[in-house]
Amino acid sequence: MSRRPRLRPPWFATGASMDVGELRGQTEEASTSHGAIVIGAGAAGLAAAHALIKAGVPTIILEKESRLAEPWHRRHEQLHLNTHRDLSALPGAGYPAGTPAFPARTAVIRHLNDFSQAHSLPVEFGVAVEEIAFKRDHWIVQTNTGPRLARHVVVATGRDRQPFIPEWKGAGDFAGRIIHSADFGRAKNYAGKKVLVVGAGNSGFDVLNHLANIETRNMWLSARNGPSILPKRIGKIAVHRLSPFMARLPLWLADAVMATTQRLVFGDLTKFGMPKAPSGGASRLTSDYTAIAADEGAVRAIKAGKIAVVPAVREFIRDGVILGDGKMIAPDIVIAATGYRTGLEQMVGGLGVLDGKGVPLFNGGEADPKLPGLWFTGMRPSIRGCFANASIQAKAIAQQIVGQGR
Ligand SMILES: Cc1cc2nc3c(=O)[nH]c(=O)nc-3n(C[C@H](O)[C@H](O)[C@H](O)COP(=O)(O)OP(=O)(O)OC[C@H]3O[C@@H](n4cnc5c(N)ncnc54)[C@H](O)[C@@H]3O)c2cc1C
Repeated sequence: MSRRPRLRPPWFATGASMDVGELRGQTEEASTSHGAIVIGAGAAGLAAAHALIKAGVPTIILEKESRLAEPWHRRHEQLHLNTHRDLSALPGAGYPAGTPAFPARTAVIRHLNDFSQAHSLPVEFGVAVEEIAFKRDHWIVQTNTGPRLARHVVVATGRDRQPFIPEWKGAGDFAGRIIHSADFGRAKNYAGKKVLVVGAGNSGFDVLNHLANIETRNMWLSARNGPSILPKRIGKIAVHRLSPFMARLPLWLADAVMATTQRLVFGDLTKFGMPKAPSGGASRLTSDYTAIAADEGAVRAIKAGKIAVVPAVREFIRDGVILGDGKMIAPDIVIAATGYRTGLEQMVGGLGVLDGKGVPLFNGGEADPKLPGLWFTGMRPSIRGCFANASIQAKAIAQQIVGQGR
C-alpha cells in the first residue's frame, strides 16, 4: 500500500486550518510553478500522477478512501477482468507470472498497490475533494481537510462512481428486492430464486455469466436495446487482445468487424427475443459511452432457455414487474444493471464542463481554454479498456502540461 509523501512540494498549501483567503496569499508562489493535484488514486489517477512526476511536475494525489483500489475491493468476489492482462496493466508494469489471461479482482488490487509502491506515488488517503474553483491563474481544491492550491487539477474520480437505477414507476410498492449490479454479491445466493436482470450491457452480462452456472428458479433478462457482445475467447484466442487493432479502425469498420464477429459466434440472437442493437458497438461506445459486453456462458444459457429475454421494464406493482408488452413477471429480486454516473455535479457542476449525463465534455489531453489547468481522465470507455486508456491519457495530459509551461 502507498505511504503518505515524505516530501511535500512547496507548491501545495496543506494546512487544514488555513482559509481560502490565506491560500490566495500563496498564489504568487504558485504562479511560478507547475504543481498538480490528481483527484482519485484509481488506475487513471495513478497513471496520471506517474506521468506528471516523470515529466517533472510536482504532483500529489488526493484519495477519499483509506486504502488503494477501494472500488475493486467492493466489487463481487467472482469478478475477473474482461480485458486481457497485457492490456490491463499500468505503464511499464505487468502482472506476476501465472496471472490468468483475465485477472481476478484481487490481482488488480495487488497490481495497483504494487505500482503505487514501486514509484513511491504520493497518495494522501482520507482526503475527499468536495469542490474545485478557478481563481485567476490557479485552482482552489476544497477538501474535507481544508483547501489546497494547484496550477493543474486532474480529475480521476472514475466514470462508475455512483450506481444508477432509473426512477421506475411503482418501484417503492414492489414487495421484492431491487438492487444495483454493483451489489450483486455471491452468485450462489441466488440459487432457487426468481431473478430479473435489467440491462443487457457489460454489467448485465457480467451478472448473467455468473448466474448461468446457478440453479435459479427463473431468470429473465429485460433488454431495452440489443447488446454489442463479444465472447471473451474464440478458441484459444483472448478476443480483447485484438482491441488495439480495433481501436485504430474507422468507426464504421470497427462496427462492421464487431457485428460480423458477433453474428458468426452467436448467430441471430433476435430469434431468442433479443432486440436489435440500435447502432454498432464502436459507435455506441463513442456516442453514448455504452461499453461492449463480454460473454462467458450467458448466451448459451439464453439459447438453452435458462434465461428468458423479455422487453423493457414499464413499471412495478406490488407483486411484480409490468413489461413493455403489458405482460407481468414476478421476480423475487431485480438486479438493475443500469449503469453508473460520474457523480461530478458537486465537484465541478458550476464550471459548465458536464454534459446532460454528468460526463465531462473533455477528457485526456483535451482542455477548455477558459479553464486552463483543468483535466479529466478515465471518463470515457475505450475499446482498449480503462487501464490501457489510462496510460494513453496520462501521457497526453503530461505532454500538454509540460508543453504549456504553466
Ligand atoms: C463491475 C465492473 C467491472 C469492470 N471491469 C473492467 C475490465 O475488465 N477492464 C477495464 O478496463 N475496466 C473495467 N471496469 C471499469 C473500471 O472502473 C475501470 O477499469 C477502472 O477501475 C477505472 O479506473 P479509474 O481510476 O478511472 O476509476 P476508479 O477505479 O473508480 O478510481 C477512482 C478513485 O477516485 C476516488 N475518488 C472518488 N471521488 C473522490 C473525491 N471526491 N475525492 C478524492 N478521491 C475520490 C475513489 O475512491 C477511487 O479510488 C469495470 C467496472 C466495473 C463496475
